[in-house]
Amino acid sequence: MIKWWQQRNVRLSLTLWYVGAMVVVLAVYAAGVFTFVSGNASNALDDRLHEDLLLTPAMAEQRPDGTLDWYEDDSEGGKNSRWLQIWSPDGHRIFRTGVAERNPIPESEALASRADSSIVTVPTGPTMVRILTDRLDVYGKPLVIQVARPETAMRGQLGQLALMLLLGLPFAVAAAGIGGYRLARRALAPVEHMAGSARSITAERLSDRLPVTNPNDELGHLASVFNDTLGRLEASFEQMRRFTADVSHELRTPLTALRSVGEVGLRERRDEAAYRAIIASMLEEVDRLACLVDRLLAWSRAETGQARLAQEVIDLHELAEEVATYLGVLAEEKRQSLVVEQLGAVRGMGDRLVLRQSLINLVDNAIKYSPIGGDIRLRALESQTAAMIDVIDTGPGIPPELRVRVFDRYDRGGQSLSGEIGGTGLGLSISKWAIEVNGGHLTLEPTTGGGSTFRIALPRAGAARSPEGRRRKSVA
Ligand code: ADP
Repeated sequence: MIKWWQQRNVRLSLTLWYVGAMVVVLAVYAAGVFTFVSGNASNALDDRLHEDLLLTPAMAEQRPDGTLDWYEDDSEGGKNSRWLQIWSPDGHRIFRTGVAERNPIPESEALASRADSSIVTVPTGPTMVRILTDRLDVYGKPLVIQVARPETAMRGQLGQLALMLLLGLPFAVAAAGIGGYRLARRALAPVEHMAGSARSITAERLSDRLPVTNPNDELGHLASVFNDTLGRLEASFEQMRRFTADVSHELRTPLTALRSVGEVGLRERRDEAAYRAIIASMLEEVDRLACLVDRLLAWSRAETGQARLAQEVIDLHELAEEVATYLGVLAEEKRQSLVVEQLGAVRGMGDRLVLRQSLINLVDNAIKYSPIGGDIRLRALESQTAAMIDVIDTGPGIPPELRVRVFDRYDRGGQSLSGEIGGTGLGLSISKWAIEVNGGHLTLEPTTGGGSTFRIALPRAGAARSPEGRRRKSVA
């Protein structure tokens, strides 16, 4: 079960933290102010007690016989009259003012006997009295003087101050709460805005991005990180779409070949051995298909940098023979001649299955686009560094202005997608990509007298390869 404090939103949390911090700060401030003011007031009261003490000699007058007469200043209606007592050093009270007579100083006798210059606070009824007892020589006579002042006024003022501070605190906290809430709401408004924008981004609208008003602040940073994530997500989705398209394209040709083998097999009655041979050949194709599916997955992983392709020595002549046999049935249906020219062994490096599939795409195109009765030739040849296979046909060729574009994904070189020759415009781009990840190149060679020549060039087995050539390239 979620506790109530776990349900609160960030705005409320921020406000609570803010109010909490405010309470602590204000309480410390109020305590500081109170301590400072009460300390000052207490010191002022002590100073006045010392002043009272020092004014005492002015109250005395010496007689001719050396004894002292004591007078009390009762001018201004006794306003200057002090709370004072005078004792002899042996503990006899010599004099006390009218105020002291009316309100005896508490514990005065005990304090007078000590006379240690200390100031003590003594409770008398509801009030507290502060008393200073000290020794002083007046006209050469040692005396003990005792002055007192009530703390009532000081305590009253301090009480008022404390009340003001205490009453002000809830108001200050309430104001802080309201201000904090508004501040938090204002600060979090862009987050709400971002959440709204993020909510509207769906799998179909992954190209949308969150607005980044200030890339240097925290929210701008968050939006940028989110946008980066969206970018990666979009790339993954795109990759998935591409993979699905590639898989369906790559599986189409082998499936057509498989179907053709089956159809040819059924066309006339055969003996058991012939049927067995046909089924064996179909099963072989099925195995290849399974391999192809595995390899397509490997391609897709290689594209994301997760897997490496095999590096093996491939006899290109033998590969050409194998593909010609494999697609021979399709050529036969169009009464085309599909021959592999014998020029001797040519060895290249790469992933055999991936390259086989690329060559199948090229030969399949040659069959598809060449007219009935056309000629298709496969030729393996080599230069100093490269091992090559040419796929030469007598089809319509590719016009110069389309020569670069045909390698683009979904480009059909002027053919419509729904045209009579079926296709997706993916074969060449997949083949080009597959050959390039194997460190090779797929080019369309210039031809004279019609038709087209596609050339796969691979690193020659045994020839040194530059690291550049091995670099993975992606299909545009
Ligand atoms: P698809 O064959 O599925 O359309 P490809 O990527 O294999 O896709 O080919 C792209 C385009 O290049 C084709 O639509 C076609 O116009 C052109 N093309 C490819 N191979 C040949 C060829 N051997 N002869 C003539 N045109 C070709």
